[in-house]
Amino acid sequence: MLPLNVIEDAAANLADYQGCGESVMEMSHRSAEFKAILEDAEKNLRDIMNIPDNYKVMFIQGGATLQFAMIPLNLLRNSGKADYIVSGTWAKKAAKEAQKFGDIKIVASSEEDTFTYIPEVSKEDFRPDADYVHITFNNTIYGTHYPYIPDTGDIPLVADMSSCILSEEVDVSKFGLIYAGVQKNIAPAGVAIAIMREDLLGFAKETVPTYLDYKIHADNGSTYNTPNCFGIYIAGEVFKHIKNIGGIAAINKINVEKAQKLYDYIDSSELYTCPVRERDRSLMNVVFVTGDADLDKKFVAEAKANNMHNLNGHRSIGGMRASIYNAMPMEGVDALIEFMKKFEEENK
Ligand SMILES: *Cc1c(COP(=O)(O)O)cnc(C)c1O
Repeated sequence: MLPLNVIEDAAANLADYQGCGESVMEMSHRSAEFKAILEDAEKNLRDIMNIPDNYKVMFIQGGATLQFAMIPLNLLRNSGKADYIVSGTWAKKAAKEAQKFGDIKIVASSEEDTFTYIPEVSKEDFRPDADYVHITFNNTIYGTHYPYIPDTGDIPLVADMSSCILSEEVDVSKFGLIYAGVQKNIAPAGVAIAIMREDLLGFAKETVPTYLDYKIHADNGSTYNTPNCFGIYIAGEVFKHIKNIGGIAAINKINVEKAQKLYDYIDSSELYTCPVRERDRSLMNVVFVTGDADLDKKFVAEAKANNMHNLNGHRSIGGMRASIYNAMPMEGVDALIEFMKKFEEENK
C-alpha cells in the first residue's frame, strides 16, 4: 500500500510534471528536472533515516534479488568467506546465491521450526575472518523481525530490510550495507535502495559485470545508465510524505499501535493463532492461521469479497498474512479485526 495522497499527487502530475511540459515517464534521466527529483529523493532519505555522511545511497534496478548476487560479488574481498543467518525464505535465497561466489557458512537457522523465531547469535558464532555477515531484518513471509542487531564486532553487517525499511528508526552506523527492494514499503517495483559504508566500495573483481559493481552506482550518482526514473520519483514523494508527517519515529509509533492491536486480538481469539514467538513478531507482516487449511482458504475468499485484499499467506506456507505497511491506516486494521470477529462467530 502507498500513501493515497502520494498516488493522487502523482496522478495530478502524470501528464505534465509541475508544469514542465512533460511526464516523469518521458523525461531524460540527464534533464535538470529529473536531476532535482533524484537529488531531493536522496536528500530526504538521508534526512529521515539519519544516514551518516560516510555512507553512499544508491538506487539500483533488479530488486532485492539482484542484491543477493551483488553483495558477494562486491564484499567477498579478503578471505572469500561470509556468514549468513537463515531466518526465512529470502535469507535462504540470499545465502544460496552467495554460495555461487564464495565460502558461505550458515551460522544459525530457524528452518526446523518453520522460521517461527529469530535465531540468537553472538560474536563468537561468526568466523573471525568472514568478509561480512548477512541477515534478513524482517522476514516478510513468516512475520518475524530481529528484536536485536547482532554484534559482529569488526565484521561488516549486511541487512536485507526490504519489508521493514522506514517502519522503525534504525542506527545505520551499525551496518556495512542496508538494502531493500522498494515495492513493500516505498514505491512501485523496480528499484532497490542500497545504503553502503564508503570503505566497502571498490572491491569488485575485474570480471564482475559493470552494472553489478556498487562503486559504479556510487561514483555516478545512480545514473551510470538510465535508472528507473518513475520509481525513484515516487520513492522521493514517499520520503517527503514521511518527513511531513513527523518522520520515522511518528510512523513507528502508529505501526506499533496497529500491530499491537492486531496481535492482541489474535492472542485473545479462540479461532486464530499467530505461530511467531512473541518477541520476534513483525510490525509489518502479521501471520495467523485457524489451524484448518480449508477454513483459512474460506477466510481469504470471504475477506476478498469484503474488499480486503492480499490476506493470503505466502504460497509456500498458506494461512493468512496481513501486511500492514506504513501506508495502512489504523482504520484498515480495525476493519480487519471486525471482519475476523464476524468470521469467528460464523465458523465456530
Ligand atoms: C520481497 C522480498 C525480497 C525480494 O524482492 P525482489 O525485489 O522481488 O527481488 C527479498 N527480501 C525480502 C525480505 C523481501 O520481502
